[in-house]
Amino acid sequence: MELNLLILPGDGIGTEVTREAVRVLDRVAAKFNHKVNSKEALLGGIAIHKTGGPFPEETARLCVDADATLMGAVGLPEFDNWPPEKRPERGLLGIRKTMGVFANLRPVRSYPALLDSSPLKNHLVDGVDMIIVRELTGGIYYGTPRGIFGEGENEHAMNTMAYTRAEIERVTRMSFELARKRRKKVTNVDKCNVLETSQLWRKVVIEVAADYPDVELDHLLVDNCAMQLVLNPKRFDMVLTENMFGDILSDEGAVLAGSIGMLPSASIGGKMPSGAWVGLYEPVHGSAPDIAGQNKANPLGAIGSVAAMLEYSFGLMEEAAAVNAAMEKVLNSGNVTADLRPKGTPATTSEVGEAVCDAI
Ligand code: NAD
Repeated sequence: MELNLLILPGDGIGTEVTREAVRVLDRVAAKFNHKVNSKEALLGGIAIHKTGGPFPEETARLCVDADATLMGAVGLPEFDNWPPEKRPERGLLGIRKTMGVFANLRPVRSYPALLDSSPLKNHLVDGVDMIIVRELTGGIYYGTPRGIFGEGENEHAMNTMAYTRAEIERVTRMSFELARKRRKKVTNVDKCNVLETSQLWRKVVIEVAADYPDVELDHLLVDNCAMQLVLNPKRFDMVLTENMFGDILSDEGAVLAGSIGMLPSASIGGKMPSGAWVGLYEPVHGSAPDIAGQNKANPLGAIGSVAAMLEYSFGLMEEAAAVNAAMEKVLNSGNVTADLRPKGTPATTSEVGEAVCDAI
């Protein structure tokens, strides 16, 4: 198979972890006889330096042409006081909008070697394997009217949470299709005892579920879900929820895995003519200026994002499993970066990347 990719290393440790992720991709492609055609482009702070803006036209053109896009992270401290619309992070919104990715998938799984890194007791975390699906382009982060109005006693602020049936339906269908490839269980999370948007959300989820009789569906109110994520995280397979609830719950889920450097993510949109999902893959972490340029960053979140890309954009399940198994082997060896608190001298970013390649 030919894999036509766009690579966006971005800023800070984004460039370091992406280098290792691409190395792992090349290794797994060689092993399974696939051809990787990759182009590299600019996004974020480096794009501002070289072109004057965080999301150059060239990058916009290339991401639409590629089968899948692999991204590092963006953000440079020198832009911290710039207005939001000019900052490197604005490049993220630009690329998500251009690619039309409407669901953010965060797989959260426990690794036996990292059980002690989680703040929860081992028996609660051992065996956790879920995907949190967060709706990415609707809800209160985008709804209008919004703003801060008036002055003095009359000063007030407003945000609007809004969803259309179509927005709910497409992310729900995606969740059920993905659930079919897993343990066939979707937990819908909403606040339908209080919010009308949640009442429509739940109604549409139940209607869509009728097309997937082989997938079990249950519902949790978001406050109860926040509690169940720490009381009984193993009960979850696919968690489906709207934008703001997903933003909050996915960070809660993140701590189950031990370190933010471990977490991959996939942002998925509609289907391409080939039937594959449109996909943007990136580790969950940012550009980590505190450790950038020191070869210290954990590359496993970026490498896990390669596994997600192989699975969701190319349907290459065996290849994705090979990457995940190689990561697990490296974790078990204890040859890991400082954030995972190894017993001996921490490994460097490039040593971990090399070890994953060797394990493949
Ligand atoms: P961050 O994720 O960059 O770092 C938070 C902490 O986690 C830091 O102490 C860092 O050293 C550590 N860390 C992060 N990734 C790690 C890894 N792979 N290995 C080891 N340690 C790791 O978050 P922040 O400090 O809040 O943000 C820094 C910059 O990144 C900001 O400009 C922010 O806007 C940007 N950011 C970008 C993205 C993205 O590109 N998707 C996401 C979050 C933050």
